[in-house]
Amino acid sequence: MSEQTQEPGSSAPRRVVVAGAGMAGVQTAVALREQGFTGDVILIGAEPHQPYDRPPLSKAVLLGKSEGSAFDVDFEALAIELRLGCEVLGLRPADHELDTEDGPVPYDVLVVATGAE
Ligand SMILES: Cc1cc2nc3c(=O)[nH]c(=O)nc-3n(C[C@H](O)[C@H](O)[C@H](O)COP(=O)(O)OP(=O)(O)OC[C@H]3O[C@@H](n4cnc5c(N)ncnc54)[C@H](O)[C@@H]3O)c2cc1C
Repeated sequence: MSEQTQEPGSSAPRRVVVAGAGMAGVQTAVALREQGFTGDVILIGAEPHQPYDRPPLSKAVLLGKSEGSAFDVDFEALAIELRLGCEVLGLRPADHELDTEDGPVPYDVLVVATGAE
């Protein structure tokens, strides 16, 4: 789900913040670049390790091979800023800001991709 903060007719949002670096968050960030979005894209994830795909990982663990399920995405080349090991603690829509462990993060458009949490 996303919260659009731009008024109709205003300029395009310059800063998209995606909360949650799972499948939904990663695919959203990548899709923004694939569709030509040139503003800032910031992907925030609570887990400290590189984003990974859960279903293949669970199958690999069962087979005794727990490596290789990280998303094959070059975040740096796509100019997607990854902030890992950073939990989002709250949302202040009126201020267009998230509160995180590392301090407030402003956004123009927020994508909440925190899964079932
Ligand atoms: C063990 C296992 C096996 C699975 N096998 C299959 C399968 O075989 N087939 C299938 O179709 N589906 C399977 N699934 C389900 C599939 O993994 C989910 O449907 C999919 O991961 C959902 O993606 P998502 O990005 O919406 O949420 P998630 O994968 O839950 O990602 C959400 C991310 O947001 C982060 N996050 C949450 N809260 C915060 C916060 N406050 N601040 C910062 N980050 C936060 C989490 O750390 C997480 O990385 C499986 C799930 C599990 C757990």
